[in-house]
Amino acid sequence: MNGRAWDSFLNRFVLTTWFDKGDRPKTRQAMYVLSQKIPAHDRKRIPPSTIVYAPSPKMSGEARRRVHPAGRKRYEFFLYLSPMLEEMEQAEVENIVAHEFAHLILESRKRRISGADTYPGAARDQAADRLIEQWGFIAAYKPPSKSNEVKL
Ligand SMILES: [Zn+2]
Repeated sequence: MNGRAWDSFLNRFVLTTWFDKGDRPKTRQAMYVLSQKIPAHDRKRIPPSTIVYAPSPKMSGEARRRVHPAGRKRYEFFLYLSPMLEEMEQAEVENIVAHEFAHLILESRKRRISGADTYPGAARDQAADRLIEQWGFIAAYKPPSKSNEVKL
């Protein structure tokens, strides 16, 4: 176990008022697994001003001031982890959480390079999946079909 990597993830993303520790056990475990699998050089590419929002499924709505746990500085990146994840298989939750972090890393890098906001559509998801495969996860993106319209 890489305790320092997990401590960093805990303090930055989990032990905040944005992450419901009690009602999101699978999501919390996925954060742990990601902290252990993501290489240090990619962990350092997660934008510093990122909020991970993993609310309780019991919450029907919420209005929040946009303040980053590190202070009152403006944050740029907001990563939402749906309560639906708690209904999925643990391995699938882990792949999806990793996939969303890969978007953060790729999009912050892209912005630095070109000033562009995002990749378009499916290419964006495929790029995120190529990165998480390097970390040891399984591709999470499923192309939309008539019966499957879930967006990652
Ligand atoms: Zn995606």
